[in-house]
Amino acid sequence: MSDLNEKEEELKEQDETKATEPEEKKDTPEQYCSMCHRPESRCGKLMKLPIGGLNICSDCMQKSFDMFNNRPGMDNNSMTRIPIGRIELTQMGQGEAQPRRAVKKKKTEEEKLKERRDLLKDMPRPHRIKAMLDEYVVGQEKAKRSLSVAVYNHYKRVFSDSSDGVEIEKSNILMIGPTGSGKTFLVRTLARILKVPLAISDATSLTEAGYIGDDIESVLSKLLMAAGNDVDKAEMGIVFIDEIDKIAKKQNNHSRDVSGESVQQELLKMLEGTRIEVPVGSTSKNPMVPTTTVDTTNILFICGGAFPDLEEIIRERLARRSGIGFIGELSEKTNTDKNILTKVQMEDLRKFGMIPEFLGRLPVVCTLETLDEDYLVRILKEPRNAILSQYKKLLAMDMVDLEFEDDALRLIAEKALERGTGARALRAILEEYMLDIMYEIPKDDNIGRVVITRDYLEHRGGPRIEMRGQAVLPG
Ligand code: ADP
Repeated sequence: MSDLNEKEEELKEQDETKATEPEEKKDTPEQYCSMCHRPESRCGKLMKLPIGGLNICSDCMQKSFDMFNNRPGMDNNSMTRIPIGRIELTQMGQGEAQPRRAVKKKKTEEEKLKERRDLLKDMPRPHRIKAMLDEYVVGQEKAKRSLSVAVYNHYKRVFSDSSDGVEIEKSNILMIGPTGSGKTFLVRTLARILKVPLAISDATSLTEAGYIGDDIESVLSKLLMAAGNDVDKAEMGIVFIDEIDKIAKKQNNHSRDVSGESVQQELLKMLEGTRIEVPVGSTSKNPMVPTTTVDTTNILFICGGAFPDLEEIIRERLARRSGIGFIGELSEKTNTDKNILTKVQMEDLRKFGMIPEFLGRLPVVCTLETLDEDYLVRILKEPRNAILSQYKKLLAMDMVDLEFEDDALRLIAEKALERGTGARALRAILEEYMLDIMYEIPKDDNIGRVVITRDYLEHRGGPRIEMRGQAVLPG
């Protein structure tokens, strides 16, 4: 028995002295780097920090040093001390840090003013913004008009001088429209036209600070990344928070609503305009990640959502107002009105679960229409970057002219409608149908023209093929 104890002691000693030897890992569970989550077997020996049991691999440690060193105001030649919680780590290998800056230097007030004046000079007027949106976005006339005006006014407000006592209020936007109706697409196009940084976030991943999920600052770190870590640029950008309906107040919820009402509460200050500590180069706060302050006063927030069941709430209200009382007795017109969402009022959204303070910070409400078959056909062929034009361009590189019969396009639109995901389904459906064409046609150099027919898509025949310098051959 004492022999055994001695042996154990000996083994323990060996473990301590040969800590680097792989045999040790056989007995202990494998450790993971707390930052990149790679196992020790892949990233090499981990450094154990005396705070919160953090293990850091040498790569992540080096990255953190570099990031910290590149912050404005840091002297690369001096001995760099990294504060982590209450302890400080002295940087090894000083002077090796790259001269790149993680966060660009703040501009002087004068530089900022000049930059803003230049921007306003270049800012397109609402009718120009709408005309540019028209090139890419089919229909949605009302939404395009209200977005163009809201965005133009927003930037006028940003550049305005409030010394006369008149301060233009912030006009964040709430966009309501079914899935696949073009909410994200509109915002993306808008940001491209205005040449401002854009961050797209999903409200479903947001939770109250301290709970599992993304903190609200993650929205701003994405914007900072989109602005190339230029804080001034980010402070004039656009943030689109999608699926905003998912943070509606949960009905009959007796536990703490960490992903609903609490998130709405936390977003209030950010929407209104405040200074927020934002992690740089990461979407989550971490002692190893440097932070910077971002002022959200001039950031335009656009919140979008499909708000399922909102139509029912509107119908109910309309019925109550008209004195009918029962939804079942609603007039034909209200029941079949496809675009009932356009009649939305604040009280409907409150009933849906959005808190009044939150709605108060989104004064511009624009609704998008449900896309019908005609719309979908137009989306296939009309926009500047239409899916059909993309296929035509691909085959044009093989010197083949690609055409679609109108009936074939209708079939694609019908199939997309069946999927119920709006215009989003169009590309996937077309990809399926076009696979064989894109495979077979380039095989034969004599083919000059291909016409996609409804019969071909319904597997009742082939496409119409025209050889170079020949008449059309039925497929
Ligand atoms: P949402 O955000 O409303 O769910 P998206 O903006 O993501 O929908 O739309 C999905 C895709 O459908 C877009 O990438 C775009 O290509 C296309 N699309 C949707 N609506 C339109 C439209 N009105 N005009 C042109 N393309 C559209």
